[in-house]
Amino acid sequence: MTTASTRHAVVVGGSPAGLLAAHVLSAHADKVTLVERDRFPAGPEHRRGVPQDRHTHVLLDSGQRALEELLPGILDELAAQGSPRVGMPEDIVQWQNGRWIRRTPSTGYILTGSRPLTDWAVRERVLKNPRIETVENTEATGLAGDARRVRGVRLRERGTHPVGQGEYVLDAGLVVDATGRGSRAPAWLAAIGAEPPHEEYLETGLAYASRFYHARPADAALGFRGVYIVSNARQQSGAVLMPLEGDRWSLILSGLRGSEPPTDEAGFRDFAATLPHPLVHDWLREAEPAGPIHGFRKTANTRRRYDRPGRRPAGFLATGEALCAFNPVYGQGLAVSALSALALRDALADPRRVPTTRRVQRALSEAARPAWDISAGADKNVPGALGNVMRPRTLDKPVDWYMERLQRRACGNPEIGRVFRSVLHLNTPASALFAPAVARAVLFGPEPAAPTEPPMEPESRAG
Ligand SMILES: Cc1cc2nc3c(=O)[nH]c(=O)nc-3n(C[C@H](O)[C@H](O)[C@H](O)COP(=O)(O)OP(=O)(O)OC[C@H]3O[C@@H](n4cnc5c(N)ncnc54)[C@H](O)[C@@H]3O)c2cc1C
Repeated sequence: MTTASTRHAVVVGGSPAGLLAAHVLSAHADKVTLVERDRFPAGPEHRRGVPQDRHTHVLLDSGQRALEELLPGILDELAAQGSPRVGMPEDIVQWQNGRWIRRTPSTGYILTGSRPLTDWAVRERVLKNPRIETVENTEATGLAGDARRVRGVRLRERGTHPVGQGEYVLDAGLVVDATGRGSRAPAWLAAIGAEPPHEEYLETGLAYASRFYHARPADAALGFRGVYIVSNARQQSGAVLMPLEGDRWSLILSGLRGSEPPTDEAGFRDFAATLPHPLVHDWLREAEPAGPIHGFRKTANTRRRYDRPGRRPAGFLATGEALCAFNPVYGQGLAVSALSALALRDALADPRRVPTTRRVQRALSEAARPAWDISAGADKNVPGALGNVMRPRTLDKPVDWYMERLQRRACGNPEIGRVFRSVLHLNTPASALFAPAVARAVLFGPEPAAPTEPPMEPESRAG
């Protein structure tokens, strides 16, 4: 792939990863066509092609910064639309690794507006670009070309022809797969004689059940703006309660394999009673639902190794969850979509290197790697986890031992907490966890006291 010959690029998938890739490519191609199987709604509405949009989608601060760099002003637009900005750790009651976390002054912020709102804001900005054309209600069914070069994408308008008929080819010098975790691109590549990527997966069986609620006047007196209860080996159920735009809340109940949260009214409420503290169950008693309960079970970490050598064609790239999908409990996917778009921009603009398909794909894979290391790295230790990347490495045992000590200190030591959060939020490389000051506190420092009960007020207010 050279940018000079890539006069027409096609991006398949109109979610954040695809939209942001199209935005970046529009600076290099004469025309970018964005193909989406859904019809885009006019406003911030749920979409059939994105079933996960019924569940809380936090945007980490690394993702906010990347998004702002790509689309200046977007954070102000999200704020104007009411997307709440929640401080960590001050604003939320958090239970992680079996401990409550001190609510000291915030060192990071997450945006907790609904996924439809975030998608709509990004879509509105990106699709204003006259170089980007959308083809909606149309799905990609394969690639055109051969194992050496992709020459376009096979498309079919939805609902107009019986399956297998009505296909046509849209010619392109570059095809980007942004169709999400269910991507069929490995089969598309095989069909043109190319080599599909090796697929790594690791899943804990985590299941979500989520519901939106109207805020009540009494909620204004709550001493928190969110609750985050992370399951562990001894505690199979978790919860995420976060504010949404439009004076609403979103509540996720989650459970590992064998402890999946029910999606019926009574089961949902009873499940909340299995959390390590009754605070969410008590909140639910008075809560006013704003819609039905939705379940979700496809939460495996999946990485397609397009970065590894193989007989794959020039002119084909994968990004977003089509490349690397994460256990959603870490809240990384949107941030990685934005960071990947920055990596694409930088790889295409690098004056020192010809942006071959392989180089650009490596840059995209590298952008997803820190999040993969966190998500798959932590999930390996979840009892009952299954996958083909479970093989222990020599370094795993001492690193796990160190991480266990670090997390015990992160709850009560604000500085360790800050560094730990910064790594989890993809602001800082994981090497920061082993910096001398942190290592000293982890290896030789005493274990600081963590709250014994959920801290219902920030420390600044509790006095
Ligand atoms: C339950 C759940 C909760 C999550 N919570 C968070 C969170 O808190 N924070 C966070 O950052 N991330 C979260 N994620 C991850 C986040 O949803 C993804 O990272 C995000 O959607 C970006 O993915 P994407 O753009 O690659 O793909 P998707 O959003 O899955 O979009 C793929 C798009 O491709 C289209 N498409 C698919 N196939 C075709 C085809 N053949 N032809 C044309 N179009 C096609 C689809 O209609 C869709 O529009 C969560 C995920 C899940 C499952």
